Amino acid sequence: MSIIDNLNQIKTTIPANVTLVAVSKTHTAEAVLEAYSTGQRVFGENKVQELCAKQLILPNDIEWHFIGHLQSNKVKYIAPFITLIHSVDSLKVLTEINKEGIKNNRTISCLLEFYIASEESKFGLDLTEAEAMLENPIFKTLDHICIAGVMGMASYTDDQNIIKNEFRQLVSYFNQLKAKYFSACADFKEISMGMSGDYLLAIKEGSTMVRVGSSIFGERNYR
Ligand SMILES: *Cc1c(COP(=O)(O)O)cnc(C)c1O
Repeated sequence: MSIIDNLNQIKTTIPANVTLVAVSKTHTAEAVLEAYSTGQRVFGENKVQELCAKQLILPNDIEWHFIGHLQSNKVKYIAPFITLIHSVDSLKVLTEINKEGIKNNRTISCLLEFYIASEESKFGLDLTEAEAMLENPIFKTLDHICIAGVMGMASYTDDQNIIKNEFRQLVSYFNQLKAKYFSACADFKEISMGMSGDYLLAIKEGSTMVRVGSSIFGERNYR
């Protein structure tokens, strides 16, 4: 099937209250434009350089989401245009995002990335680290960032039970943080979870934002 067919099919499975982030990493600008032609406007990338190259040549009404691990020294390249950074996992990078927000005269929306998978290699905070960050006096001074919710990646496994429990863990973190720190903050509302293999389960478990790549664009070639 073509990108357009894939996307139109996937859209029929996603409720109106869930945002579909089309993950276009490793795919060409032409592929993004094909998806764009169906009305898709939200795209996700995980490498700063690749994102900036696409942003430069693609339509201005695309909402770009950054979903990869973000190094502090690269924040400046995406700060002028990024709609949402899904992958904040330290006060250091958050402080840098705030600094670039000030420079660009905009408030930058971010999600806190949580470590929910059983795999060693994944990035992200645990609940204790997130609370320490939110209670740090420095955090309270950051007025050009907006914490819009949480993000997580489940284990790469066929075992639906493991994935389901990891999604539930993330929802539980969201609820605890909402109650303790964000009860008065309407912006704290997003739970970014679910990819090509598990997005339907993620939606069932309360996802508000799914990040789907290969089911739309096909398999990635990393060479
Ligand atoms: C690549 C990627 C996705 C999309 O993965 P698919 O399995 O291709 O849908 C989602 N989230 C993150 C963080 C990614 O890096």
